[in-house]
Amino acid sequence: MTKPLQVMKFGGTSVGDATCIARAAQIVSSAAEGMRVVVVVSAMSGVTNRLIDAAKRASDGDVEASATLVESLRQQHRAALAVLVSEEASRLSVEHKLEEILAEGKRLYDGTAMLRELTPRALDIISSLGERLCAPMFAAALRQIGTLSHSVEATQLIVTDSYHGGAEPRADETRQRSSSHLLPLLAAGEVPIVTGFIGASQDGKLTTLGRGGSDYSATILGAALNADEIIIWTDVEGVLTADPRLVPEARTIPEISYREAAELAYFGAKVLHPKTLRPVLPESIPVWIRNSFAPEKLGTKITQKGKSIGGGVKALTAIRDVALISLGGPGIVGVPDVIGRTFTTTAELRADVLLISQSSSQNDICFLVSKPHAHVTVDALRKEFAQDLAHEVVDHITVDPNVAIVAVVGENMRGTPGVAGKTFNALGREKVNLIAIAQGSSETNISFVVDEKSMQHALRVLHREFGLGQSPAS
Ligand code: ADP
Ligand code: ASP
Ligand code: MG
Repeated sequence: MTKPLQVMKFGGTSVGDATCIARAAQIVSSAAEGMRVVVVVSAMSGVTNRLIDAAKRASDGDVEASATLVESLRQQHRAALAVLVSEEASRLSVEHKLEEILAEGKRLYDGTAMLRELTPRALDIISSLGERLCAPMFAAALRQIGTLSHSVEATQLIVTDSYHGGAEPRADETRQRSSSHLLPLLAAGEVPIVTGFIGASQDGKLTTLGRGGSDYSATILGAALNADEIIIWTDVEGVLTADPRLVPEARTIPEISYREAAELAYFGAKVLHPKTLRPVLPESIPVWIRNSFAPEKLGTKITQKGKSIGGGVKALTAIRDVALISLGGPGIVGVPDVIGRTFTTTAELRADVLLISQSSSQNDICFLVSKPHAHVTVDALRKEFAQDLAHEVVDHITVDPNVAIVAVVGENMRGTPGVAGKTFNALGREKVNLIAIAQGSSETNISFVVDEKSMQHALRVLHREFGLGQSPAS
Protein backbone atom coordinates (compact mmCIF):
# COMPACT_ATOMS: atom_id res chain seq x y z
CA MET A 1 0.00 0.00 0.00
CA THR A 2 1.37 3.47 -0.84
CA LYS A 3 2.00 5.77 2.07
CA PRO A 4 -0.13 8.90 2.50
CA LEU A 5 1.16 12.01 0.78
CA GLN A 6 1.67 15.35 2.45
CA VAL A 7 2.69 18.63 0.80
CA MET A 8 4.36 21.01 3.25
CA LYS A 9 5.18 24.63 2.60
CA PHE A 10 7.61 26.68 4.65
CA GLY A 11 7.26 30.47 4.43
CA GLY A 12 10.02 33.07 4.53
CA THR A 13 10.34 33.38 8.30
CA SER A 14 10.29 29.60 8.67
CA VAL A 15 13.46 29.46 6.53
CA GLY A 16 14.75 32.86 7.72
CA ASP A 17 18.16 31.65 8.95
CA ALA A 18 20.12 28.46 9.62
CA THR A 19 18.34 27.79 12.92
CA CYS A 20 14.93 28.10 11.28
CA ILE A 21 15.93 25.88 8.35
CA ALA A 22 17.29 23.26 10.75
CA ARG A 23 14.00 23.33 12.67
CA ALA A 24 12.01 23.03 9.45
CA ALA A 25 14.21 20.18 8.22
CA GLN A 26 13.55 18.36 11.49
CA ILE A 27 9.79 18.71 10.96
CA VAL A 28 10.12 17.31 7.45
CA SER A 29 12.37 14.44 8.41
CA SER A 30 9.99 13.31 11.19
CA ALA A 31 7.03 13.45 8.82
CA ALA A 32 8.97 11.58 6.13
CA GLU A 33 9.31 8.56 8.45
CA GLY A 34 5.68 7.62 7.94
CA MET A 35 4.63 9.50 4.83
CA ARG A 36 5.60 10.61 1.37
CA VAL A 37 6.44 14.31 1.68
CA VAL A 38 6.84 17.04 -0.91
CA VAL A 39 8.22 20.33 0.43
CA VAL A 40 7.65 23.78 -1.05
CA VAL A 41 9.97 26.53 0.14
CA SER A 42 9.83 30.31 -0.02
CA ALA A 43 12.83 32.58 -0.18
CA MET A 44 14.52 33.44 3.13
CA SER A 45 12.51 36.24 4.70
CA GLY A 46 12.95 39.65 3.14
CA VAL A 47 14.94 38.34 0.16
CA THR A 48 12.20 38.77 -2.47
CA ASN A 49 11.58 42.37 -1.40
CA ARG A 50 15.29 43.11 -1.64
CA LEU A 51 15.55 41.47 -5.08
CA ILE A 52 12.66 43.53 -6.41
CA ASP A 53 13.90 46.74 -4.88
CA ALA A 54 17.32 46.28 -6.52
CA ALA A 55 15.63 45.52 -9.86
CA LYS A 56 13.77 48.84 -9.73
CA ARG A 57 17.00 50.62 -8.92
CA ALA A 58 18.79 48.87 -11.77
CA SER A 59 16.11 50.10 -14.15
CA ASP A 60 17.00 53.63 -13.00
CA GLY A 61 20.59 52.90 -13.96
CA ASP A 62 21.86 52.11 -10.44
CA VAL A 63 24.18 49.08 -10.78
CA GLU A 64 25.72 49.49 -7.35
CA ALA A 65 22.58 48.47 -5.47
CA SER A 66 22.32 45.15 -7.27
CA ALA A 67 26.04 44.39 -6.99
CA THR A 68 25.81 45.00 -3.23
CA LEU A 69 22.70 42.86 -2.99
CA VAL A 70 24.20 39.92 -4.89
CA GLU A 71 27.21 39.97 -2.59
CA SER A 72 25.05 40.17 0.51
CA LEU A 73 22.87 37.26 -0.68
CA ARG A 74 26.02 35.23 -1.32
CA GLN A 75 27.21 35.88 2.26
CA GLN A 76 23.81 35.21 3.79
CA HIS A 77 23.24 31.88 2.03
CA ARG A 78 26.82 30.67 2.46
CA ALA A 79 26.72 31.50 6.15
CA ALA A 80 23.51 29.51 6.61
CA LEU A 81 24.88 26.64 4.54
CA ALA A 82 28.06 26.52 6.62
CA VAL A 83 25.99 26.00 9.77
CA LEU A 84 23.61 23.50 8.19
CA VAL A 85 25.96 21.26 6.21
CA SER A 86 29.19 19.95 7.67
CA GLU A 87 29.99 17.49 4.90
CA GLU A 88 32.35 19.32 2.53
CA ALA A 89 31.45 17.71 -0.80
CA SER A 90 27.77 18.32 -0.23
CA ARG A 91 28.40 21.93 0.84
CA LEU A 92 30.62 22.61 -2.18
CA SER A 93 28.08 21.26 -4.60
CA VAL A 94 25.37 23.53 -3.13
CA GLU A 95 27.77 26.49 -3.16
CA HIS A 96 28.39 25.82 -6.83
CA LYS A 97 24.64 25.85 -7.50
CA LEU A 98 24.23 29.10 -5.53
CA GLU A 99 27.00 30.70 -7.58
CA GLU A 100 25.23 29.77 -10.83
CA ILE A 101 21.99 31.33 -9.64
CA LEU A 102 23.73 34.48 -8.37
CA ALA A 103 25.59 34.83 -11.68
CA GLU A 104 22.28 34.61 -13.53
CA GLY A 105 20.93 37.34 -11.24
CA LYS A 106 23.96 39.53 -11.85
CA ARG A 107 23.58 39.23 -15.62
CA LEU A 108 19.91 40.20 -15.37
CA TYR A 109 20.61 43.20 -13.17
CA ASP A 110 23.40 44.40 -15.46
CA GLY A 111 21.19 44.02 -18.51
CA THR A 112 18.38 45.91 -16.80
CA ALA A 113 20.72 48.74 -15.80
CA MET A 114 22.18 48.95 -19.29
CA LEU A 115 18.79 49.11 -21.00
CA ARG A 116 17.22 51.09 -18.17
CA GLU A 117 14.22 48.95 -18.68
CA LEU A 118 12.69 46.32 -16.45
CA THR A 119 10.42 44.02 -18.42
CA PRO A 120 7.79 41.97 -16.55
CA ARG A 121 9.60 38.84 -17.67
CA ALA A 122 12.98 39.99 -16.31
CA LEU A 123 11.32 41.06 -13.06
CA ASP A 124 9.83 37.59 -12.69
CA ILE A 125 13.20 35.90 -13.15
CA ILE A 126 14.83 38.29 -10.69
CA SER A 127 12.02 37.77 -8.14
CA SER A 128 12.43 34.00 -8.39
CA LEU A 129 16.07 33.96 -7.30
CA GLY A 130 15.30 33.81 -3.56
CA GLU A 131 13.35 30.56 -3.83
CA ARG A 132 15.94 29.10 -6.18
CA LEU A 133 18.72 29.89 -3.69
CA CYS A 134 16.79 28.47 -0.78
CA ALA A 135 15.65 25.10 -2.16
CA PRO A 136 19.09 23.48 -2.73
CA MET A 137 20.19 24.61 0.73
CA PHE A 138 17.09 23.11 2.33
CA ALA A 139 17.63 19.81 0.51
CA ALA A 140 21.25 19.71 1.70
CA ALA A 141 20.11 20.39 5.28
CA LEU A 142 17.83 17.35 5.02
CA ARG A 143 20.55 15.13 3.60
CA GLN A 144 22.75 16.23 6.49
CA ILE A 145 20.27 14.72 8.95
CA GLY A 146 19.91 11.52 6.95
CA THR A 147 16.83 12.17 4.82
CA LEU A 148 17.15 11.58 1.09
CA SER A 149 16.35 14.82 -0.68
CA HIS A 150 16.90 16.88 -3.82
CA SER A 151 15.72 20.29 -4.92
CA VAL A 152 13.42 20.60 -7.93
CA GLU A 153 12.66 23.82 -9.79
CA ALA A 154 8.92 24.43 -10.06
CA THR A 155 9.43 25.53 -13.67
CA GLN A 156 9.58 21.78 -14.36
CA LEU A 157 6.28 21.13 -12.61
CA ILE A 158 3.84 24.04 -12.65
CA VAL A 159 2.65 25.04 -16.10
CA THR A 160 1.04 28.49 -16.21
CA ASP A 161 -0.28 31.04 -18.67
CA SER A 162 2.23 33.70 -19.63
CA TYR A 163 0.94 36.52 -17.44
CA HIS A 164 4.10 37.66 -15.66
CA GLY A 165 3.70 38.75 -12.06
CA GLY A 166 0.47 36.84 -11.46
CA ALA A 167 0.35 33.77 -13.67
CA GLU A 168 -2.48 31.25 -13.52
CA PRO A 169 -1.71 27.53 -13.44
CA ARG A 170 -2.97 25.11 -16.07
CA ALA A 171 -4.26 22.19 -14.05
CA ASP A 172 -4.04 19.31 -16.53
CA GLU A 173 -0.49 19.95 -17.73
CA THR A 174 0.63 20.66 -14.17
CA ARG A 175 -0.86 17.39 -12.98
CA GLN A 176 0.85 15.49 -15.74
CA ARG A 177 4.29 17.10 -15.23
CA SER A 178 4.19 17.00 -11.44
CA SER A 179 3.21 13.35 -11.36
CA SER A 180 5.81 12.27 -13.85
CA HIS A 181 8.60 14.21 -12.09
CA LEU A 182 7.73 13.79 -8.45
CA LEU A 183 6.06 10.39 -8.06
CA PRO A 184 9.19 8.43 -9.05
CA LEU A 185 11.26 10.50 -6.58
CA LEU A 186 8.72 9.81 -3.84
CA ALA A 187 8.65 6.14 -4.71
CA ALA A 188 12.43 6.08 -4.31
CA GLY A 189 12.02 7.45 -0.76
CA GLU A 190 13.18 10.98 -1.58
CA VAL A 191 11.77 14.25 -0.30
CA PRO A 192 11.65 16.70 -3.23
CA ILE A 193 12.20 20.34 -2.24
CA VAL A 194 10.32 22.50 -4.71
CA THR A 195 10.83 26.23 -5.24
CA GLY A 196 7.62 28.03 -4.27
CA PHE A 197 6.15 31.07 -6.03
CA ILE A 198 7.21 30.14 -9.57
CA GLY A 199 6.14 28.18 -12.60
CA ALA A 200 6.75 28.37 -16.34
CA SER A 201 4.60 29.06 -19.35
CA GLN A 202 4.06 26.35 -21.95
CA ASP A 203 7.03 27.66 -23.94
CA GLY A 204 9.25 27.37 -20.86
CA LYS A 205 9.44 31.02 -19.75
CA LEU A 206 9.62 31.47 -15.99
CA THR A 207 6.56 33.08 -14.42
CA THR A 208 5.60 34.01 -10.85
CA LEU A 209 2.26 33.40 -9.19
CA GLY A 210 2.02 36.79 -7.46
CA ARG A 211 3.54 38.02 -4.19
CA GLY A 212 3.13 35.56 -1.37
CA GLY A 213 2.45 32.90 -4.00
CA SER A 214 4.27 29.99 -2.36
CA ASP A 215 1.08 29.12 -0.48
CA TYR A 216 -0.58 28.78 -3.87
CA SER A 217 2.32 26.63 -5.15
CA ALA A 218 1.68 24.21 -2.27
CA THR A 219 -2.01 23.75 -3.04
CA ILE A 220 -1.41 23.60 -6.81
CA LEU A 221 1.03 20.73 -6.23
CA GLY A 222 -1.18 19.17 -3.56
CA ALA A 223 -4.09 19.04 -5.99
CA ALA A 224 -1.90 17.87 -8.87
CA LEU A 225 -0.59 14.95 -6.80
CA ASN A 226 -3.90 14.16 -5.03
CA ALA A 227 -2.22 14.79 -1.69
CA ASP A 228 -3.93 13.60 1.48
CA GLU A 229 -3.24 16.91 3.18
CA ILE A 230 -1.34 20.14 2.86
CA ILE A 231 0.44 21.90 5.71
CA ILE A 232 1.39 25.54 5.45
CA TRP A 233 4.06 26.19 8.07
CA THR A 234 4.33 29.84 9.02
CA ASP A 235 5.20 32.11 11.95
CA VAL A 236 1.79 32.19 13.69
CA GLU A 237 -0.36 29.46 15.23
CA GLY A 238 -2.83 29.15 12.40
CA VAL A 239 -5.55 31.44 11.14
CA LEU A 240 -6.32 33.91 13.89
CA THR A 241 -9.49 35.90 14.59
CA ALA A 242 -7.61 38.97 13.24
CA ASP A 243 -4.11 39.95 12.23
CA PRO A 244 -2.19 39.68 15.53
CA ARG A 245 -0.02 42.63 14.57
CA LEU A 246 -3.11 44.83 14.56
CA VAL A 247 -5.20 43.13 17.24
CA PRO A 248 -2.91 41.64 19.90
CA GLU A 249 -5.74 39.71 21.63
CA ALA A 250 -6.50 37.72 18.42
CA ARG A 251 -6.86 33.94 18.97
CA THR A 252 -6.26 30.86 16.86
CA ILE A 253 -9.35 29.43 15.14
CA PRO A 254 -9.06 25.61 15.39
CA GLU A 255 -11.20 24.87 12.32
CA ILE A 256 -12.47 27.08 9.54
CA SER A 257 -14.17 26.46 6.21
CA TYR A 258 -12.59 26.93 2.79
CA ARG A 259 -15.02 29.69 2.14
CA GLU A 260 -14.27 31.60 5.34
CA ALA A 261 -10.52 31.23 4.90
CA ALA A 262 -10.80 32.32 1.26
CA GLU A 263 -12.79 35.42 2.26
CA LEU A 264 -10.17 36.31 4.85
CA ALA A 265 -7.34 35.81 2.38
CA TYR A 266 -9.12 37.80 -0.32
CA PHE A 267 -9.57 40.72 2.05
CA GLY A 268 -5.96 40.87 3.12
CA ALA A 269 -5.21 38.20 5.74
CA LYS A 270 -1.62 37.75 4.71
CA VAL A 271 -1.41 34.33 6.29
CA LEU A 272 -2.81 32.89 3.01
CA HIS A 273 -2.33 33.99 -0.57
CA PRO A 274 -5.83 34.86 -1.89
CA LYS A 275 -5.88 32.03 -4.43
CA THR A 276 -4.51 29.35 -2.10
CA LEU A 277 -7.71 27.40 -1.60
CA ARG A 278 -8.88 27.27 -5.21
CA PRO A 279 -6.98 24.14 -6.28
CA VAL A 280 -8.07 22.05 -3.28
CA LEU A 281 -11.81 22.71 -3.49
CA PRO A 282 -12.78 19.97 -5.99
CA GLU A 283 -11.17 17.17 -4.00
CA SER A 284 -11.70 18.76 -0.55
CA ILE A 285 -8.08 18.28 0.46
CA PRO A 286 -7.64 19.55 4.04
CA VAL A 287 -5.17 22.41 4.50
CA TRP A 288 -3.49 23.05 7.84
CA ILE A 289 -1.90 26.33 8.90
CA ARG A 290 0.70 25.65 11.57
CA ASN A 291 3.51 27.41 13.38
CA SER A 292 6.97 26.10 12.45
CA PHE A 293 8.31 27.74 15.63
CA ALA A 294 5.84 25.73 17.77
CA PRO A 295 5.23 22.48 15.87
CA GLU A 296 3.64 20.89 18.95
CA LYS A 297 0.60 23.14 18.49
CA LEU A 298 -2.11 21.95 16.10
CA GLY A 299 -2.87 25.26 14.39
CA THR A 300 -5.90 25.66 12.14
CA LYS A 301 -7.52 23.05 9.94
CA ILE A 302 -9.26 24.36 6.84
CA THR A 303 -11.96 22.01 5.57
CA GLN A 304 -15.03 21.98 3.38
CA LYS A 305 -17.46 22.56 6.24
CA GLY A 306 -15.28 24.17 8.88
CA LYS A 307 -16.83 24.07 12.32
CA SER A 308 -19.82 26.22 12.94
CA ILE A 309 -20.11 28.67 15.78
CA GLY A 310 -23.35 30.08 17.05
CA GLY A 311 -22.61 33.77 16.95
CA GLY A 312 -21.87 33.90 13.25
CA VAL A 313 -18.79 36.10 13.09
CA LYS A 314 -15.59 34.09 12.95
CA ALA A 315 -12.84 36.56 12.11
CA LEU A 316 -12.00 40.05 10.93
CA THR A 317 -9.58 41.17 8.31
CA ALA A 318 -8.40 44.36 6.70
CA ILE A 319 -6.59 45.40 3.60
CA ARG A 320 -4.67 48.61 3.45
CA ASP A 321 -2.97 48.62 0.09
CA VAL A 322 -6.08 49.68 -1.83
CA ALA A 323 -7.51 52.77 -3.53
CA LEU A 324 -11.09 53.93 -3.94
CA ILE A 325 -12.09 54.92 -7.46
CA SER A 326 -15.33 56.86 -8.00
CA LEU A 327 -16.99 57.55 -11.29
CA GLY A 328 -20.12 59.62 -11.52
CA GLY A 329 -22.11 62.70 -12.33
CA PRO A 330 -25.75 63.62 -12.64
CA GLY A 331 -25.84 62.56 -16.29
CA ILE A 332 -24.67 58.98 -15.97
CA VAL A 333 -28.20 57.63 -15.58
CA GLY A 334 -28.57 58.22 -19.31
CA VAL A 335 -25.24 56.73 -20.38
CA PRO A 336 -25.70 53.21 -21.63
CA ASP A 337 -23.76 50.47 -19.98
CA VAL A 338 -21.65 52.55 -17.59
CA ILE A 339 -21.13 49.56 -15.36
CA GLY A 340 -20.28 47.22 -18.24
CA ARG A 341 -17.76 49.65 -19.68
CA THR A 342 -16.20 50.36 -16.28
CA PHE A 343 -15.59 46.72 -15.47
CA THR A 344 -14.55 45.73 -18.97
CA THR A 345 -11.86 48.36 -18.53
CA THR A 346 -10.68 46.94 -15.20
CA ALA A 347 -10.79 43.40 -16.58
CA GLU A 348 -8.58 44.37 -19.50
CA LEU A 349 -6.00 45.66 -17.02
CA ARG A 350 -6.37 42.54 -14.85
CA ALA A 351 -7.05 44.89 -11.95
CA ASP A 352 -8.66 42.95 -9.10
CA VAL A 353 -11.83 44.74 -8.05
CA LEU A 354 -12.12 44.11 -4.33
CA LEU A 355 -15.40 45.81 -3.49
CA ILE A 356 -18.11 47.59 -5.43
CA SER A 357 -20.79 49.98 -4.20
CA GLN A 358 -23.32 51.85 -6.26
CA SER A 359 -26.09 54.23 -5.34
CA SER A 360 -29.45 53.27 -6.84
CA SER A 361 -29.71 56.32 -9.06
CA GLN A 362 -26.39 55.35 -10.70
CA ASN A 363 -25.16 58.84 -9.82
CA ASP A 364 -22.00 57.35 -8.52
CA ILE A 365 -20.24 54.03 -8.75
CA CYS A 366 -17.31 53.43 -6.50
CA PHE A 367 -15.02 50.45 -6.32
CA LEU A 368 -11.70 49.45 -4.84
CA VAL A 369 -8.63 48.11 -6.57
CA SER A 370 -5.18 47.37 -5.23
CA LYS A 371 -3.03 50.49 -4.99
CA PRO A 372 -0.55 49.54 -7.71
CA HIS A 373 -3.48 49.30 -10.15
CA ALA A 374 -5.12 52.59 -9.17
CA HIS A 375 -3.51 55.06 -11.54
CA VAL A 376 -3.52 52.87 -14.62
CA THR A 377 -7.19 52.12 -13.95
CA VAL A 378 -8.11 55.79 -13.68
CA ASP A 379 -6.17 56.62 -16.83
CA ALA A 380 -7.90 53.83 -18.74
CA LEU A 381 -11.32 54.93 -17.47
CA ARG A 382 -10.65 58.52 -18.50
CA LYS A 383 -9.91 57.23 -21.97
CA GLU A 384 -12.97 54.99 -22.08
CA PHE A 385 -15.27 57.81 -20.89
CA ALA A 386 -13.46 60.63 -22.76
CA GLN A 387 -16.54 61.59 -24.77
CA ASP A 388 -18.80 61.49 -21.73
CA LEU A 389 -16.37 63.62 -19.74
CA ALA A 390 -16.11 66.13 -22.58
CA HIS A 391 -19.90 66.47 -22.65
CA GLU A 392 -20.03 66.60 -18.84
CA VAL A 393 -22.26 63.57 -18.69
CA VAL A 394 -19.67 62.06 -16.41
CA ASP A 395 -18.30 64.81 -14.23
CA HIS A 396 -15.72 63.00 -12.17
CA ILE A 397 -13.41 60.02 -12.16
CA THR A 398 -11.42 60.29 -8.94
CA VAL A 399 -9.10 58.19 -6.84
CA ASP A 400 -8.53 58.15 -3.08
CA PRO A 401 -5.50 56.11 -2.02
CA ASN A 402 -5.89 56.75 1.74
CA VAL A 403 -8.51 54.14 2.46
CA ALA A 404 -8.73 50.59 3.80
CA ILE A 405 -11.27 47.79 3.57
CA VAL A 406 -12.34 46.03 6.76
CA ALA A 407 -14.26 42.75 6.47
CA VAL A 408 -16.28 40.81 9.01
CA VAL A 409 -16.28 37.12 8.01
CA GLY A 410 -18.22 34.02 9.05
CA GLU A 411 -20.32 31.44 7.23
CA ASN A 412 -22.88 31.36 9.99
CA MET A 413 -23.59 35.04 9.47
CA ARG A 414 -25.85 33.79 6.69
CA GLY A 415 -29.36 33.99 8.05
CA THR A 416 -28.22 35.39 11.41
CA PRO A 417 -30.01 38.69 11.79
CA GLY A 418 -28.36 41.57 13.56
CA VAL A 419 -24.72 41.13 12.55
CA ALA A 420 -24.74 44.19 10.31
CA GLY A 421 -26.65 46.18 12.93
CA LYS A 422 -24.17 45.24 15.62
CA THR A 423 -21.22 46.04 13.35
CA PHE A 424 -22.40 49.47 12.34
CA ASN A 425 -23.74 50.39 15.80
CA ALA A 426 -20.39 49.65 17.36
CA LEU A 427 -18.56 51.64 14.70
CA GLY A 428 -20.99 54.56 15.03
CA ARG A 429 -20.62 54.56 18.79
CA GLU A 430 -16.82 54.67 18.40
CA LYS A 431 -17.05 57.42 15.77
CA VAL A 432 -15.57 55.43 12.90
CA ASN A 433 -16.73 57.05 9.68
CA LEU A 434 -17.84 54.68 6.90
CA ILE A 435 -17.07 55.64 3.31
CA ALA A 436 -18.76 52.70 1.53
CA ILE A 437 -20.38 49.41 2.50
CA ALA A 438 -20.95 46.08 0.75
CA GLN A 439 -22.43 42.73 1.69
CA GLY A 440 -22.43 39.97 -0.89
CA SER A 441 -25.54 37.85 -1.29
CA SER A 442 -23.58 34.89 0.08
CA GLU A 443 -23.79 36.76 3.41
CA THR A 444 -20.47 35.32 4.50
CA ASN A 445 -18.88 38.72 4.78
CA ILE A 446 -19.77 42.31 5.42
CA SER A 447 -17.11 44.65 4.18
CA PHE A 448 -16.77 48.38 4.45
CA VAL A 449 -14.35 51.13 3.54
CA VAL A 450 -12.84 53.47 6.11
CA ASP A 451 -10.13 56.07 6.17
CA GLU A 452 -6.80 54.24 6.41
CA LYS A 453 -6.12 55.89 9.76
CA SER A 454 -9.27 54.41 11.31
CA MET A 455 -8.59 50.84 10.17
CA GLN A 456 -6.91 49.49 13.28
CA HIS A 457 -9.41 51.18 15.57
CA ALA A 458 -12.30 49.66 13.59
CA LEU A 459 -10.74 46.18 13.89
CA ARG A 460 -10.22 46.49 17.63
CA VAL A 461 -13.72 47.81 18.24
CA LEU A 462 -15.31 44.93 16.31
CA HIS A 463 -13.03 42.27 17.76
CA ARG A 464 -14.24 43.35 21.22
CA GLU A 465 -17.85 43.77 20.13
CA PHE A 466 -18.10 40.21 18.78
CA GLY A 467 -16.15 38.75 21.72
CA LEU A 468 -13.62 37.16 19.39
CA GLY A 469 -10.79 37.32 21.88
CA GLN A 470 -12.71 35.58 24.69
CA SER A 471 -15.09 32.85 23.71
CA PRO A 472 -13.58 29.70 22.20
CA ALA A 473 -13.17 30.65 18.55
CA SER A 474 -14.03 27.21 17.24
P1 ADP B 1 4.98 33.30 5.45
O1 ADP B 1 6.27 34.00 5.27
O2 ADP B 1 5.06 32.09 6.32
O3 ADP B 1 4.25 33.05 4.15
P2 ADP B 1 3.33 35.63 5.92
O4 ADP B 1 4.06 36.77 6.56
O5 ADP B 1 3.08 35.70 4.46
O6 ADP B 1 4.08 34.28 6.32
O7 ADP B 1 1.94 35.41 6.66
C1 ADP B 1 1.89 35.24 8.06
C2 ADP B 1 1.50 36.54 8.73
O8 ADP B 1 0.15 36.85 8.36
C3 ADP B 1 1.45 36.49 10.22
O9 ADP B 1 2.72 36.74 10.79
C4 ADP B 1 0.42 37.55 10.57
O10 ADP B 1 1.04 38.75 10.97
C5 ADP B 1 -0.32 37.80 9.27
N1 ADP B 1 -1.79 37.68 9.40
C6 ADP B 1 -2.68 38.56 8.92
N2 ADP B 1 -3.93 38.18 9.22
C7 ADP B 1 -3.85 37.01 9.89
C8 ADP B 1 -4.81 36.12 10.46
N3 ADP B 1 -6.12 36.34 10.40
N4 ADP B 1 -4.34 35.01 11.06
C9 ADP B 1 -3.02 34.75 11.11
N5 ADP B 1 -2.07 35.57 10.61
C10 ADP B 1 -2.47 36.69 10.01
N1 ASP C 1 9.01 34.87 -1.74
C1 ASP C 1 7.76 35.25 -2.40
C2 ASP C 1 7.29 36.59 -1.88
O1 ASP C 1 7.89 37.16 -0.98
C3 ASP C 1 6.71 34.22 -2.31
C4 ASP C 1 6.26 33.84 -0.90
O2 ASP C 1 6.91 34.18 0.08
O3 ASP C 1 5.22 33.17 -0.79
O4 ASP C 1 6.34 37.12 -2.40
MG1 MG D 1 3.12 34.33 2.87
